[in-house]
Amino acid sequence: MYFYEIYLRGVKGIFTWHAIEKIAIGARVEVSLRNRKKIGLVVNISEKKPAFKTQSILEVLDEVFIVEKYLEIAREVGEDAFCSFEKVLSLMVPEKFFLKHSPAKRDLFYKIQVGEFNLTGEKQKQAVEILKQHKSELSAEVLRKKISSSTIKTLIKKGVLTEKFGKFSLPNYQEKIVRKKNFELTSLQKSVLKSIQKSVKPSLLFGVTGSGKTEIYKALAQEQLEGEGGQTVFLLPEIALTPQLIAEFKNVFGERIAVWHSNLSEGEKIQEFARITSGEAQILIGARSAILVPLKNPKLIILDEEHEWTYKNEFAPRFWTHDIAESIAQKFHSKLLFGSATPRIESFEKCKEGCWSLVEMGKRVFETQLPKIEIIDLVQERKKGNHSPISEKLDVEIRRILKEKKQAVIFLNKRGFSGSTMCKECGHAFECPNCSVNMKVHRKVGSRGRDGMAKFICHFCGHLEKFPEICPKCSTKSFEFRGWGTQKMEEVLKEVYPKVRILRADADTITKRYDFENCIQKFYHHEADILLGTQMIAKGLDFEKVELVGIILADVGLNLPDFRAEERVFQLLTQVSGRAGRRENRGKILIQTYNREEKLFEFVKNHDTKGFVDWQNDIRKKTNMPPFTNLAKITFSDIKKETAFFNAKKFFTLCQKECDLDTQVTFAPAFFPRMYGKYHFHVFVKMNDLGNLRDFLQKRALDISGKIDLKPTSLL
Ligand SMILES: [Zn+2]
Ligand SMILES: [Zn+2]
Repeated sequence: MYFYEIYLRGVKGIFTWHAIEKIAIGARVEVSLRNRKKIGLVVNISEKKPAFKTQSILEVLDEVFIVEKYLEIAREVGEDAFCSFEKVLSLMVPEKFFLKHSPAKRDLFYKIQVGEFNLTGEKQKQAVEILKQHKSELSAEVLRKKISSSTIKTLIKKGVLTEKFGKFSLPNYQEKIVRKKNFELTSLQKSVLKSIQKSVKPSLLFGVTGSGKTEIYKALAQEQLEGEGGQTVFLLPEIALTPQLIAEFKNVFGERIAVWHSNLSEGEKIQEFARITSGEAQILIGARSAILVPLKNPKLIILDEEHEWTYKNEFAPRFWTHDIAESIAQKFHSKLLFGSATPRIESFEKCKEGCWSLVEMGKRVFETQLPKIEIIDLVQERKKGNHSPISEKLDVEIRRILKEKKQAVIFLNKRGFSGSTMCKECGHAFECPNCSVNMKVHRKVGSRGRDGMAKFICHFCGHLEKFPEICPKCSTKSFEFRGWGTQKMEEVLKEVYPKVRILRADADTITKRYDFENCIQKFYHHEADILLGTQMIAKGLDFEKVELVGIILADVGLNLPDFRAEERVFQLLTQVSGRAGRRENRGKILIQTYNREEKLFEFVKNHDTKGFVDWQNDIRKKTNMPPFTNLAKITFSDIKKETAFFNAKKFFTLCQKECDLDTQVTFAPAFFPRMYGKYHFHVFVKMNDLGNLRDFLQKRALDISGKIDLKPTSLL
């Protein structure tokens, strides 16, 4: 007799059932709980009879549903993120699989194999006859109506039938965007590929923008396909924002690809999950949630744009995709590759420590020089009397681009109409009722002037308000708008260059699933001269005719009190700059700023990533910040300020009492003290050893009423 711990969806805790036969960990089974039949997942096995009475497992539905190692991963993720194993499992397996009939089976086909078969009994012969009448292939739904499932099972065991999942058609946009030829690898790419292949450690591919990292990824994935059936996981920061890359992969690998991201419909998720877990699909492309999809045999994991903060899951379980990837790679002996033009400071440090190996690609594929970057002092512009968001130089360059029929990317990391709105009479600012931030004005599409002031939006909680006729405080009618958003920028550009064709990409214009792809497609086909957008347009886009990038205000995000503020701005500016001059002509980048003296801009200008990293490392060492220490952020929130404060203070005092010399504890209100209608206080705990920090928090996790975030992305 064996005893099995079984996870059930929507049931708190893990319970035990028994069976006479041996069932694998990871099997999908049917059990009875309080006289109701439920579908569960075997997560543990034991031969020792528990002290309580157990019931028998009713039926084994899928003998290997999840590979056992993925259950180990789920356990680890739960422990690291101070969150239950069950919670992680609920993310790993789509809910519909906890219904009796595995939903994927609806799209299952039975296919008859070629060859001679030893068929016993009329039923088996009948089944084969039916299939032959249908070109040897029939959907499970139809066949099961005619033939019993036990006969089908027997035929599968005999090798007469094989199971085949219905084709999943990827959205058809890809081919339209680009059909890029497969290029021969350059000699630099070849040698880079070789070092990655040779490395037994995870590799960090530090390749400048336009150096052709994608070619390396494709070559590695190809190698897997030609090998012994290993699967590839290819992770991207945001699926919707990288249509070109997916298109390239699809062009090469076709139907062997499965796609996974949070915007898939339930039906699509089920299909893709079945194709991946069965091993039918060999390449899984996805956003961070794809790292938790239990593959059959992951042998290659690639994290592209590894510096992107979207690789951190900011909801429970709060995990870093990097960490899970490392754990999978260890368990399955898979190759692991992180790629970026601007790797994280932490990632460089991993290489220095010898945990990862650093592979560099310092040249662009087309041998084009990296773009020429100029820093433009907006203070001087204002002194000259130019109050427009377009500096003199940027104006000259935009006119040149338009004249030469080239394209430009204009980047402004602020959406909406203006930065802030104030009553000119009484100084009233329009704060969000839920958050301690001011709301931003958004105009009605296509409207101009004051009448077009459609609404106020809070960029944090999304609160919406009609723009008032008069000031709610003093009843006058004069407002002042400061700063620029992409909406206003579009208006300015149209005013200054009346004939210009502009595409705008921000959270207001890109709202539906294919909006971004459509926008990119239009720009790719030169249906617009300027692509104006927020950080949405900073990633991975490749346009032949873009020779100018104008960064309207590089200072956004620079003055935040966070140790990663500079790093983020550096990465963003470098990435955006990388969109220009990727083919014949050298690109030009104009970066406008009010802080000309900021050291960061020198590094951006000189394409000096390593210099930047050294400089930041110096600061982080002096201030004892990651990667030179480990940090946890525990946030206490409540609608009542006193309650949030009290809970945070209590925990802070406790930590102070118990901690040793190695530990540093600080306590502060959140940068935005009130968000989403609640007050927030942070307690930060710093320790040199990550394991100790984890233990310290785990021991107290139950007593902590706050959210624990180990390795937070920001201090705000
Ligand atoms: Zn007023
Ligand atoms: Zn708000």
